Amino acid sequence: MLSPEDLEKLRKAGRVSAEARELGLSMCEPGVKLYDVAQEVEGYIRKHGCKLAFPCNISRNEIAAHYTPSCTDASVFEIGDIVKIDCGGILDGYIGDTAGTVEVGSRSHTDLVEISKTARNTVAEFIGEGVPLCEIGRAVEMTMHKAGFNPIVNLCGHQIAQNNLHAGFSVPNYDNGDDYKLESGTIVAIEPFATDGKGQIKNGKPGNIVRILRERPLADPKDQEFFEYVKEEFFQQPFCARSCDFPDAEKRVKSLIRHGILSSYAELVEVSGGLVSQHEYTFYIDGKRGEVTTLP
Ligand code: MN
Ligand code: MN
Repeated sequence: MLSPEDLEKLRKAGRVSAEARELGLSMCEPGVKLYDVAQEVEGYIRKHGCKLAFPCNISRNEIAAHYTPSCTDASVFEIGDIVKIDCGGILDGYIGDTAGTVEVGSRSHTDLVEISKTARNTVAEFIGEGVPLCEIGRAVEMTMHKAGFNPIVNLCGHQIAQNNLHAGFSVPNYDNGDDYKLESGTIVAIEPFATDGKGQIKNGKPGNIVRILRERPLADPKDQEFFEYVKEEFFQQPFCARSCDFPDAEKRVKSLIRHGILSSYAELVEVSGGLVSQHEYTFYIDGKRGEVTTLP
């Protein structure tokens, strides 16, 4: 179990992440730049005493996750876009990971947007110590099938540890038979993804989000300095050049990728081109109940 002080840090990181999520979702209007939303969301997290646990993901339509704009990205929201904002702050190692979905300027896919929220809220009602992971998956799957949608079966929720966004077990979005039971004191992200497509994602283009693959001495002292900066600033968690307060960060990231030190995450695309919605909360398992930490 977390100490009362650490639990307060977890709650604060969660609250700030949730407020940033709501700010981002509220900005998704036709003509607004994705870049501006990402900067506002991340700026909010930093202004409120947290660091970034990962870059603000702004994934539209058939892209399920892992899109974040670069510094030069001029793309804007269009009417009908199904936008997932997934963001997170970290405070002394304690992470909030949360996501929501909106449809920009129209209401043609309200059922799809809402069903991932319904699935998440259904899980929130019974999540707690002793609940098997497959039961969470079954609840997500049944909720979506009843409404005529599919869960994305190869995207999962996950355990969260200190300074580690994806640690330990995965939480399926369908009944995969995993009978591992949740334990008290665990931090876990529940994130149902719904689609009107087949229900699977594949890797798309290499995206702007990167992670550290390995450490290796760098010949260029500026590259080395940049590497030290990102290790310190992002706690070895995923990051992107846009979020770096470092000269020529885009160039440095490219150089470190070439040296095999950083690796970029591919954008994740629904295999049949289906539209995707996602809602995510972080929970703290405390006895029979799960406390949502990512409420504004
Ligand atoms: Mn997330
Ligand atoms: Mn997550």
